[in-house]
Amino acid sequence: MPPVAKVEPITTARALRGPFDYLRPDGVDIGSVLVVPFGHRDVVGVVVGLADRSELPDDRLVAPRRVLDHDLPPELVALAGWMADEYCSTPARALALVSPPPGARAKLSWWARATGQEPTGRPLSERQRALLDGLATEGPRPVAGDLAALRRLEARGIVALERRAVRRHVLHEAVGARRAGPPPTLTADQAAALAAVEAQLSGPTPEPLLLHGVTGSGKTEIYLRAAASTLQRGRGVIVLVPEIGLTPQIVSRFADRFGDTIAVLHSKLSAGERHDEWTRLRRREARVCIGPRSAVFAPIEDLGLIVLDEEHDASYKHEGDPRYDARHVAARRAERAAALLLAGSATPRPESVHALRRVHLRTRVDSQPLPPVQIVDMRECAGALHPDTSHALVDARKAIVLLNRRGWSNFVDCRSCGHAWMCPDCDVALVLHRADNRLACHHCGHRERVPERCGTCGSMSVARHGAGTERLEHDLAGLGHEVFRLDADVADPGALLRRFEAAPRGILVGTQMVAKGHDFPDVTLGVVVDADGTLRFPDFRAEERTFALVAQLAGRAGRGPGGGRVLVQTLSPDAPSIVAAAHHDADGFLHGELARREALRYPPYSHLIRIVCTAPERDAVGAAAQAVRAGLGEIAGAQVLGPAPLFKLRGRERAQLVIKAGERAAAVRAAGAAVSAAATDRSRRDVTYSVDVDPQ
Ligand code: ADP
Ligand code: ZN
Ligand code: ZN
Repeated sequence: MPPVAKVEPITTARALRGPFDYLRPDGVDIGSVLVVPFGHRDVVGVVVGLADRSELPDDRLVAPRRVLDHDLPPELVALAGWMADEYCSTPARALALVSPPPGARAKLSWWARATGQEPTGRPLSERQRALLDGLATEGPRPVAGDLAALRRLEARGIVALERRAVRRHVLHEAVGARRAGPPPTLTADQAAALAAVEAQLSGPTPEPLLLHGVTGSGKTEIYLRAAASTLQRGRGVIVLVPEIGLTPQIVSRFADRFGDTIAVLHSKLSAGERHDEWTRLRRREARVCIGPRSAVFAPIEDLGLIVLDEEHDASYKHEGDPRYDARHVAARRAERAAALLLAGSATPRPESVHALRRVHLRTRVDSQPLPPVQIVDMRECAGALHPDTSHALVDARKAIVLLNRRGWSNFVDCRSCGHAWMCPDCDVALVLHRADNRLACHHCGHRERVPERCGTCGSMSVARHGAGTERLEHDLAGLGHEVFRLDADVADPGALLRRFEAAPRGILVGTQMVAKGHDFPDVTLGVVVDADGTLRFPDFRAEERTFALVAQLAGRAGRGPGGGRVLVQTLSPDAPSIVAAAHHDADGFLHGELARREALRYPPYSHLIRIVCTAPERDAVGAAAQAVRAGLGEIAGAQVLGPAPLFKLRGRERAQLVIKAGERAAAVRAAGAAVSAAATDRSRRDVTYSVDVDPQ
C-alpha cells in the first residue's frame, strides 16, 4: 500500500502545476476526489498517482481534509492526462472536464420506518396508532407533512427517521415517440451492417467502423441493436449526438428501447439532475449515456461501445481550453477500453473516410428514392427567392427552407456617403435585427439601436443589404404560410420543432439548425437559399461544409409516401460540392475532396495546429506572434504559415500562426514550448495565447 497520494488540484490557473504529495488515507486510490489544504485555502483535487515515498520533508506531508464520495474511474484520470498533452492544456483543466458536476449533491429527504419495538409507558393516541400501523404494514415511506408527529414516535424508539437520497428524474422529451413498439425487421442493408458491427463487438480489439448511410437509411436502428448487443455482453455504451435540443428524437428512441438503463448528460440539466445522472452511471444503475460532446467523459466502466451520431457535425469540437474534439477523444477512449467506435453519417468527413473502415447503407428503409435535387441559378435573379422557388413553396404543404444567416439583412450602410455600420469592438459589419430594432454583432454580442440618420453625413437614407432568416420569415409569411423560424435567436428549439411537427402545414425556415437529423415524414419540399454562402469562407473545409449542408437538407425532404423534391439556389451552379450534393454523390465528392486535400497537404494528409495571439494593441500582437514564430524554429516535416493578422475581435487585435505537420506529437510539443516561452516574457503581459490542435 503506497502511503503517498499524488493530487492534482482542479484549478484553472495555468501556472499551478501539480501533482502535489499528500498522505494517503485508507481507501483512497487513483480517481479519488479529495479536499486538500493548499497554501492558505482548501481546494478540490483528484488523485492521479500513488507513490512509496515523497520528496517532501515528513512534516510538510499532510493529510487531506476530506474524501468526497464521488470518485472517478481511473481510466478517466488517464484520459485527462492524455488530453492535457494532446491539446496543449493543463492536467487540472482536463481533469475538470472529466470530473462530476461541481457543487451538486444528492438530494436528501426524510424517510420513516417502524423499528418493530412495542410502545411502552403512555398509550398511543389514535392518530399515532394509525401512523405506526401504516408503517408496519406498508413499509418505509417518505415523510409527507407529518414530520412532527413522527418525531415524537422516534423519541420513544418506535419509529426511525433517516435521510435518503431521492433521484431527480430527467424527462426524455418525446418527439417521434409515436414509433415506440417492437423493433422493426431489418432491411438487407441493415442486416449486413449489423453483422459487420457484431463481428467487431465479439472480437478482442474492435476496429472502428464508419456507418455511411444515406439520410433515412435507418442508422439509428443499427445503433440501437449494437447497444443492445453490448449491454448483453455486460458492457456499457456511450451515444454522442450533436446537440440534444435539436435531436430529441434519438434520445426518445433510446429511452423507448432501454428505459431506465439510459442516463442523459447535457448542459440544460440542473446541477442536481446532472449529479444524479452521473451517479447512476458511476454506480452502474444506468449503463447507456446519451449526450453531446461532453458525454464522451461519462463515468462508465467496462465500456463496450461508443456511437458517434452525425460524425460530421462541427459541434463535436469544444471551443474552451482544452480545445478537444470529442471524436478524437472518443477514438482514444474506445481504443483504451477495447470498445467499438461506431461513427455514423450520411455525409462523413473526408478524415473519417480516409481512416475508418466503411459500412454502407445505400437505400432508404422504405426503398423510397432520395428526392430529386434541382440547382437554381441565381446569377440573373435579384430577390432572395427565385420565382420557381416561390411557386414551389406556394404549392407545398410542408417545407423546410435553409438560409445560413441570422437577422434581417447582413449589413447596413448610408446611401449618400457609403458609411457602413461596424461593431465598435470587432472589425465586422453589424447585422440588422428588425424585430427588436437593433443592430447586432454576431461575434461579440454588441447591440445598438438602429440609427435614424447617418452619423457621418446626416443623411436619413439607410440601405440594407442581403437577407437573413428574419427577412426570409417575413417574405415567406407573405406567401400565405404559417412560418416557424429556427435559429440561434430562438429560445426553445425543441418546442418550436414540436409545433412544426404537429402543424398540418407550414414552413420551417432557419440556419443550419433546420438541417440536423429531423425526421418529419410530411415534409415534401426542401429549399437551400444561397447554398454557396458557406463556400465563400476562406477555409479548407468550405467544400465539405457546403456538401454536407445541402445533402443533409435534402435528407429532410421526401421521407414520407408522398415523396418530395429539393431546390438549391446558388450563384455557383458549377461548384463541385453543390453539383455532387445535387446528384446525391457522396462517394464522388469524397473522392475528389480527398485528392484535393492530398495535393494541398491538408488533413487527413497533415495535422493542423493553430496558434492565436491577442492583445489590445496591434504592435504587441505582432511582436508576440514573431516571438512565437522564432520559438518554433524549424520543425522537421512541418511547415509554419504566418504570422498573419486576423480581424479584431472583442476589442483585441489578433494574429495567427498555422503549423501544417506530418508528425503530430512533435509539432504539438513544439507549439506548447514556443507558447510557454513567449508567455513568460513579462514585457508582453497584455498578450494572451491559445493553441488549437485540429482547429475547425
Ligand atoms: P437515418 O438516421 O439513417 O436518417 P433513421 O434511423 O432516422 O434514419 O430511420 C428513418 C425511419 O425509418 C425511422 O422512423 C425509423 O424508425 C424507421 N426504420 C428504421 N429501420 C427500419 C426498418 N428496418 N423497417 C422499418 N422502418 C425502419
Ligand atoms: Zn452618410
Ligand atoms: Zn463585435
